Amino acid sequence: MKPSAREAFRLTPDGPAAVDPRDRPIGPRDKASAAGELAGLGERIDALQDALHAEAAGGGTRAVLVVLQGMDTSGKGGVVEHVGGLVNPAWLRVASFGRPTEEELSHDFLWRVRRQLPPPGRLGFFDRSHYEDVLVVRVDSLVPEDVWRPRYEQITAFEAELGRNGVTVLKCMLHISPDEQRERLLARLDDPQKVWKYNPGDVDARAKWPAYQEAYAEALQRTDSDAAPWYVIPADRKWYRNWAVASLLAETLTELDPKFPPAKVDVEAERARIETTRPV
Ligand code: ATP
Repeated sequence: MKPSAREAFRLTPDGPAAVDPRDRPIGPRDKASAAGELAGLGERIDALQDALHAEAAGGGTRAVLVVLQGMDTSGKGGVVEHVGGLVNPAWLRVASFGRPTEEELSHDFLWRVRRQLPPPGRLGFFDRSHYEDVLVVRVDSLVPEDVWRPRYEQITAFEAELGRNGVTVLKCMLHISPDEQRERLLARLDDPQKVWKYNPGDVDARAKWPAYQEAYAEALQRTDSDAAPWYVIPADRKWYRNWAVASLLAETLTELDPKFPPAKVDVEAERARIETTRPV
């Protein structure tokens, strides 16, 4: 039997380094078939998300949160656009996490994240997340190791708490190669519609590629759990990346099996009322 997306992309003990960013372990082989499949997945995701919202309107507490991490240009924004774009925008909750403000720094590192969690019924996307606090913070030595290292356990406990509160967490590392990043950074410089996105700081982070890969490998390994699993998404091909995250989301929502709440009214009585009410 073909493996599910959740089986195919789940982090293995060999870590992200064992995944080829151009791999396509399952699913479409080319861009055209991926577009067709994405449209089908979109219909499924939209219908399930609609039911999740309805369930919450009826008192349900469940929500879904997709956490996106990856090196610059790996496509975090692209996934928000192309996968988030598959559902009713009214039920989306998108949050990006940049350099923390002074206020954010005055609280514990999870404070700003808690404020952006998807409420019941919503689909949340985190473009970067609390993982920056064990990634850039570690690589750039922004705090000492005895501060960032205990965060693995704090993160695991936090995500387990989310699970208990009805938030299903789906963590995706968008895994690109240094060669693909070079092409994407150069393309930004060449394109008048993309050059505004070019940030020289991205090249500084690129220069620390091995340190980032080490930080990613340890962060993923230490915080992978069945309550909040990590998936490593081959992301050198944008169409495959979008298809893969959409597939994970569709499978997750299907398993949640959200239910439309029953009618809150006496349907027959209301039908009769409509029929007999004559607007004057
Ligand atoms: P992106 O690079 O994600 O497309 P951007 O270049 O527009 O976004 P911002 O979203 O403003 O930049 O910020 C992203 C930057 O913030 C990244 O360099 C990231 O490493 C940094 N950052 C995020 N969280 C933290 C943190 N907790 N501590 C320090 N730096 C952080």
